[in-house]
Amino acid sequence: MNTRRTAPDTDPVRTARADQFRISATVILAPGDPRFAELEKALVLPEHRRPGQGYGIALLESETDAVTYVGSIRQIEDFRAANSDGNGVLDVSHGLCYGSWPQTGGWDEVVPPTTWNPGGEGVVTEFDHRGIAVVVYEFLRERGGEQAPIVAFHCLHCHNDHAFFHDHATENSGPGDRRWIADKARVHIRQAAHECRPLDPRHLEAVVQVAREKFGPGAVVPAPEAQCAADGPCAEIRHAKARAATR
Ligand SMILES: [Zn+2]
Repeated sequence: MNTRRTAPDTDPVRTARADQFRISATVILAPGDPRFAELEKALVLPEHRRPGQGYGIALLESETDAVTYVGSIRQIEDFRAANSDGNGVLDVSHGLCYGSWPQTGGWDEVVPPTTWNPGGEGVVTEFDHRGIAVVVYEFLRERGGEQAPIVAFHCLHCHNDHAFFHDHATENSGPGDRRWIADKARVHIRQAAHECRPLDPRHLEAVVQVAREKFGPGAVVPAPEAQCAADGPCAEIRHAKARAATR
């Protein structure tokens, strides 16, 4: 699924809204739940509370947007029963929509971690930039014997590497993380005059030095694009796309 997004003409990389959302999870918050008061407080504004009724909640997301739908328990139970294949459509005119997923006030233990691509490997979205792409993608990183999901962006013009720019990648546990990185990608495009530059020559110099020590003074050092394609973010994107295609 690649959602059509609406963006104002004045700022083509700014997404105003998504036209279609995926329902990633549903949650029933019943009045008898021992965490009810705490979770309710972080879920809805005081004027939207419905004493004694509880809430049926759907967590919706597109590539870079998240919405929490809050309706009745009955509606979400009916939705679950009618859409066991996972392809259902939810009528959100019966409740309220909030512009993100709840994360605080105990919700971090309720909301399941999600990735956009099944398995956490693949492209999330791409933005056009100088005729080529800035890619927001998911991949897995080995950490402590486990595969940790990461989301990063990579500019195919300057070949920035999140190994050097640490704010270009973050842990990938939900649409808030993917939105965070997509926003960074948009900033990169907007501030291209300052940010979209090839790798600092000092980094390249270090690579040249290592190559010469290893292979002698005549060593040929590959261009940044070739290095990126060999074992940098471009390689990660290629690998993530290949993994996504097999699922
Ligand atoms: Zn760039």
